[in-house]
Amino acid sequence: MQTKPQSPTQRRPNPLRDRLARLLPPLTFAEPLESQYRNWHTDHARERLKYTMLPAMGLLLIASLAGGPFHSLRQSLFAPDQMATVDILRFAVLLPTCTAMLLVTYTRLYSSWIRFAAPAVSLLQSLCIVAFDLLMHRQGYSLSSVVPMLVLSAYMLFGMMQTQATITATTIVVAYGLTGWVAGLNSGQRLFDVIMACCALLLGFFFHYSFSRTQRLNWFRNMMLTDSVHRDALTNIGNRRMFDVHIERLWNQAIRTRASVALLLVDLDQFKSFNDHAGHQAGDHCLARVAGVIEQSARRPLDIAARYGGEEFVVLLFDVKRDRVEELCREMHANLEALRIPHPASSVGPYVTVSIGAACVEPQAGRHHDGLIQLADEALYAAKEGGRNCTVVMDREYATLSTGAFRVPRKRARTEAA
Ligand code: GH3
Ligand code: MG
Ligand code: MG
Repeated sequence: MQTKPQSPTQRRPNPLRDRLARLLPPLTFAEPLESQYRNWHTDHARERLKYTMLPAMGLLLIASLAGGPFHSLRQSLFAPDQMATVDILRFAVLLPTCTAMLLVTYTRLYSSWIRFAAPAVSLLQSLCIVAFDLLMHRQGYSLSSVVPMLVLSAYMLFGMMQTQATITATTIVVAYGLTGWVAGLNSGQRLFDVIMACCALLLGFFFHYSFSRTQRLNWFRNMMLTDSVHRDALTNIGNRRMFDVHIERLWNQAIRTRASVALLLVDLDQFKSFNDHAGHQAGDHCLARVAGVIEQSARRPLDIAARYGGEEFVVLLFDVKRDRVEELCREMHANLEALRIPHPASSVGPYVTVSIGAACVEPQAGRHHDGLIQLADEALYAAKEGGRNCTVVMDREYATLSTGAFRVPRKRARTEAA
C-alpha cells in the first residue's frame, strides 16, 4: 500500500513514529487512489448499513420511546425528578438522531451526508447512554455492560473509516471515565467497567485495522485486475473491451445531458508494407509510439483513447464541437510527424502517417451508438480515398444515416470494384 507523499518537515527522522509505522503501516493510498477508495468504501458500506441501521436504530427507538412495559421499565430505572432530563435526552437526542440516521441511510442523502452523520449520531447516542447510566446510578442500576458495546459499534456498525471510528470510540471511553469520576463513582466496580471499556477500544481498533487493511488490499488487487482487463498489452492504452463499455455509458450520458460526442477512427497508412519492409517487431514498436501520440488527444476525464483492433485506434470525446475536433486532428498529425518514424515503403511520404475519420453527433434517444462508429468509418474511408495522411470530419450526414446498415468494408469494396 502506498503512503501519502511527505513534506520535508515530515521527513525528519523520528524513531518512535518510524517504528510505529513499521508495526502498523498507515491505511492510506496516494492520491487520487485514496479518494477513489473512499468513494468505493462509501458505496460499499451502504448495503451493510441498510441491513444494520434498521434493527439498531429501531431497537433504540423502541427502548427509549415505546409505552407499555418499556414505560414501566423507564419508571423504575429513573427517579421521578430525573424524568424531565430523561425526556429531553429521549426527544431531543435519541429521536432526532435515530430518524436522521435512518433518513440518510435509506435516501439519496446517503452519499453526501453519511461521512458526517455516522460519527455524529454514534457519538451523540453514546453520550446520551452514558448520561442515562449516570442518572440511573441513584436507583441502583447501571448501563456499564452497554458501554463496551457502544465502543465496538463505533468501529463495526456505522461503516466509519479508521480515524473517524477511533476518535468516536475514544471520546466515548473518555466521557464514560470522566463523568463517573466527576460524579464521584469511584468504586472498584466502576474502575473495572472503565478497564473493560478500554479493552473494547483496543479490540475494536485492531479488528477495524486488520479488516480495513484486508479490504483495502483486496480493493487494490481488484482495481489492478480490472485495469489490466481494460488495457491493451502492446500499446498500454485502452483496449476494445474498454471502448465498448465506455461508449455505451457515454452515449446514454450524452442523451441525458444533450451533449455532443465525437469519435475519431485513426488508421495507420499502408502499415502492411511497413511490416513487410521493417519486420513485425518494428511494427509493434511503431504501433506503441503512435498510440502514445493518439492518447494525448483524450485528456479530459470522460474522453478515452483505445486500440480498436490491428492498426486502428479510436478516440472518443465527450461534449466537444467540430472546431475542436478538427484542431485535435491537426495536432495529432503534427505530433506524429514530429516523431519522424521512417516508412520507406509508403507512397504518402518518408515517415509513418495516419488517416483520420471523425464523426461529430448529438446523440438522440432511440438511436444506437453503432451509427456514430459507422459515420466515423465512412469518414475514414473518405480520408483513405482522398490520398491518406489527412482527416475527414462528418456531422450533418448523421441525420440521413440509418443506424446498423454498414457500408461494405474498405478492402472488400475495393476488391469488388476491381
Ligand atoms: P491502409 O492505408 O489502407 O490502411 O493500408 P494498411 O496496409 O494499413 O491496411 P491493411 O488492412 O492492408 O493492413 C493492416 C496491417 O496491420 C496488416 C497487419 O499485419 C498489420 N497489423 C495489425 N495488427 C498488428 C500488430 O499488432 N502488430 C503489427 N506489427 N502489425 C499489425
Ligand atoms: Mg491501415
Ligand atoms: Mg485498418
